[in-house]
Amino acid sequence: MDDLEKIRGDITSVDERILKALAERRKLAGKIIEAKDQLGSPIRDSGREEQLLANLIAKGRGQGLDAHLVTRVFHEIIDDSIRSQQLHLLDYDKSELKRIAFQGIEGAYSELAGKKYFAPYLDKTVFVGVDTLEQVVNAVEDGDVEYGLVPVENTAAGSINEVYDLLSIAQLSIVGEEVLRVEHCLLGLEEVPLASIRQIYSHPQALAECMKFVAKLPNCQAMPYTDSAMAVLKVKDAKDRSVAAIASEEAAKLYGLKVLRRNIEDQQNNFTRFLILAKKPAVVDVRIPCRTSLIMATSHEEGSLLQALTLLHEYKINLSKLESRPIPGMPFQYMFYLDFEGNTAEERISRAVAQLRSVTTSLKVLGSYPTEHRAKTAPRIEVLASRLAEPEEAPAQAPAKKESGSYKLASRAHKADDTIITVGGVRIGGAGFVVIAGPCAVESREQIHKCARYVKECGGQLLRGGCFKPRTSPYSFQGMGFEGLELLAEAGKEYDLPIVTEVLSPADVEPVARYADVLQIGARNMQNFSLLSEVGRSNRPVLLKRGMMSTMEEFLSAAEYILDRGNHQVILCERGIRTFETATRNTLDLGSIPILKSLTHLPIFVDPSHAAGKRDLVIPLALAAHAVGPHGLVVEIHPEPEKALSDGPQALRFGQFAELMRKIYQC
Ligand code: PEP
Ligand code: MN
Repeated sequence: MDDLEKIRGDITSVDERILKALAERRKLAGKIIEAKDQLGSPIRDSGREEQLLANLIAKGRGQGLDAHLVTRVFHEIIDDSIRSQQLHLLDYDKSELKRIAFQGIEGAYSELAGKKYFAPYLDKTVFVGVDTLEQVVNAVEDGDVEYGLVPVENTAAGSINEVYDLLSIAQLSIVGEEVLRVEHCLLGLEEVPLASIRQIYSHPQALAECMKFVAKLPNCQAMPYTDSAMAVLKVKDAKDRSVAAIASEEAAKLYGLKVLRRNIEDQQNNFTRFLILAKKPAVVDVRIPCRTSLIMATSHEEGSLLQALTLLHEYKINLSKLESRPIPGMPFQYMFYLDFEGNTAEERISRAVAQLRSVTTSLKVLGSYPTEHRAKTAPRIEVLASRLAEPEEAPAQAPAKKESGSYKLASRAHKADDTIITVGGVRIGGAGFVVIAGPCAVESREQIHKCARYVKECGGQLLRGGCFKPRTSPYSFQGMGFEGLELLAEAGKEYDLPIVTEVLSPADVEPVARYADVLQIGARNMQNFSLLSEVGRSNRPVLLKRGMMSTMEEFLSAAEYILDRGNHQVILCERGIRTFETATRNTLDLGSIPILKSLTHLPIFVDPSHAAGKRDLVIPLALAAHAVGPHGLVVEIHPEPEKALSDGPQALRFGQFAELMRKIYQC
């Protein structure tokens, strides 16, 4: 017992040291900004951040800490430092008390977003809850508060139209933004089975984000309410165990409700973007990456919107949002909301805006404000390795000019530049080399979590795992289906790895795409044209494996089906073909890589595991594949290959995977 108390005491003193160190680090970040100010250096130096993280990972490893933990902890720390440096440049007066209006009561998501945004100055910040979004705007306009905070869009439920309409008439400027990951919880008075819940209260937006979850509960009614934290109070007052609310975990703690279920949002990556409004526009230092928002209306003439957008293109302005809203009192006439990268304090942007005025009927700049950096600092694999990757050589052969024939959109003649596909921040295609790894099939929570952790630890960038397995025999393990998919998604989320999984039937495409970041079409389905058409209608990138007996032409024609249906994100994967040779499972056709690179702009991967069929051949084949210039590898690994339910003989042991990664990246 004494021992336990002593250990607890020691832990507390370690925690206190951590807090002290954090406070000290924040102070130093404050000094850095002063030094940067004098030198005129940029606030964000991604190269330095990556290097810093890579060094910390290396040091952490030396002390038995895994890369994932170090990355997670330091993401937060670096993020905090950048945040306070940006607020410093915003001329934020730290000494004066600031009032921030938001819609709702304490514990509402808006308040959480505000606390995140103003984190470095919370001791000088007071949050004022009001009933409606309009009151938030009025409170700032009337000078009752210095700032207002409004949600503007959600990744699942879309834009909040009321806010756009308010912005069009308000005399306010956008001075900042905050992106909050919204993890909805179902909260009740007591732990009760979910099937006994009859009413769920929350803000309509939150209900919309959890629509599928609510629809699955029998005889349960969604009850729109003013805001999520108020819904929590409503449940408290109702004193009825069959009444629940959807709100944050923080609200549950604040008001003493029980969390009945976490993460009930329909979409895994549920983010809400909030805007910070003030009376005066922010003057943002041009060294801070900014976004500018404006509202404009174009004349009711043919091509007028196109003219405005072309102008932005001419000024190389990257548009991140274009939204249209009806103009009040003018049926079927619209105004457009635009967000783009840049700061009106920059010469290029101010000139573009000035010209835009001349081709629009009205234009109102809502503000230029620092962008919320969701692109987290992650040490690129090249940085993790001690040596930088070789720059990619130009294709050995001149691009073939194939215009007509069985494929067009996939050809270099149609598009000369390499297609780059971005999946959860990972760039696939072009220069760089991406490793996708994981088990053949998801078998259990423990197995997929172990794999995910190891993939991350070794620098792999995507996690694979089959849930619907195309097996030669109907008596073999067919995969865990949607239950496995949930486990795969959970592991991917935990280790921040986008996930790749195979889809077998057209009917499964939509439900699988809800979880999977990349849809895989297996070799056996390469010419399943109804399946190709269906993934062609999806928004998810597709990893298309070469059929066992397919020519290059057939392979590219299969890709063409997907491209032709509108999905331009196809990754090709060579995984070995059938030949007379039986010493290997398949024959890895490495010649196909330079040929495909000359014929198509699509990214090309190699899967040495299914080609070899034997684990000891996987590393040599992977290294040989790396030498012929694909954009990445797909490799099967397993914590205990002898116990694997499918493809055990070809699964790399964890140690072998680490060896492969070291050899590829020359660590
Ligand atoms: C797989 O990747 O798990 C798979 C079944 O591969 P293939 O379709 O290449 O056989
Ligand atoms: Mn397999």
